[in-house]
Formats: sequence, structure tokens, C-alpha cells
Amino acid sequence: MQSKTCTACNTKFYSLTSDGFVKYFHRDKSLKSGFKYICKKCRSIYKKKLYKANPPKREIKPLLSKFCIVCSKPFQTKIEKIEVCCKECADFKKRVSSKLYKRENKYRENIKKQKLKELQSASKRRYHYKEDEIKFIKENINIYSTLYIAKKLGRTKIAIWEKIRKLKMQSKGKL
Ligand SMILES: [Zn+2]
Ligand SMILES: [Zn+2]
Repeated sequence: MQSKTCTACNTKFYSLTSDGFVKYFHRDKSLKSGFKYICKKCRSIYKKKLYKANPPKREIKPLLSKFCIVCSKPFQTKIEKIEVCCKECADFKKRVSSKLYKRENKYRENIKKQKLKELQSASKRRYHYKEDEIKFIKENINIYSTLYIAKKLGRTKIAIWEKIRKLKMQSKGKL
């Protein structure tokens, strides 16, 4: 039989094994015995006293005075992001904002479509060569560099290369 005495109330506790003291004392790995010096009962009293002397501070939120964005009625709330006075107004706001969202979405889609159109027309312009441009290429291909032709036509070297390749394909290799 082993014994362990509470340093606060001086009660002696008995146990067959040292692990059995867990019934009376809280564990504490930092101590040699593996248990607190004071018994569970004393510890709970101590904790209560400590709590009373030093209660945790609760944040008291001030009541905010606001105007409902739906019905304009004044209302009070503790939550800063709340903008409506009641559930009805909240539902209304939800409905309207989802409508607005849809409208905005449509607007965004239209912009996307327009951009796509512009892109397509730009790429058409890129691949479309006027008669005199083709004539210029054919006349100068054996005299000047591709870079020179590209610069003259306001196109990239790669684009001219590509065009030359196509022209050669059309005329079976002869230009
Ligand atoms: Zn005790
Ligand atoms: Zn309201």
C-alpha cells in the first residue's frame, strides 16, 4: 500500500499501485510522482477561487444603430455586417441581389462575347492578305529577306513565313 498526502488539506490517500492515485490527484508529467501536489477536491476549490478573482474578460459588443437597407427602418444590432432589420427584409435583399447578380453575369458574358468577336476578326485580318500584299510577297520573295517583307507589310516574320509556305503549296512549290 502506498500513500500520498495532499499539501493543501493534508488528507492522506492510499493506493495499491502508484497509478491508482489518479482517482484522487490530477496527473502532472512534470512532477516526479506524476501527479499534482494537491488533491482533485482542493484543486477544484482553488480553480473556482482563481476564476472568481480573475474572471475571463468577455468582449461586450456595443449595440449599433443602423437603418435597414431594404425598408429604411432604424434598427439595432451587435453584428456589424448585418444590413437588414428583419428576416423579411433579408429575404427581399437576397432575391434582389441574386437578380442583380444574374444581370451582372449577363453583362459580363456580353463583354466576353464581344471580346471573342474582336479576337476572331483580328485573327481573320491576320490571315487575310489583300491581292497587292500577295503580289508584293511574290515579287520580293527572291530579292529581300522575309523580315524585310514582314516589316513592309506590317506583319510578323512568322506570319510571312506561314503565308509563303501556303502560297508555295498553292503553286506547287514555285513562286
Ligand atoms: Zn486536498
Ligand atoms: Zn427592413
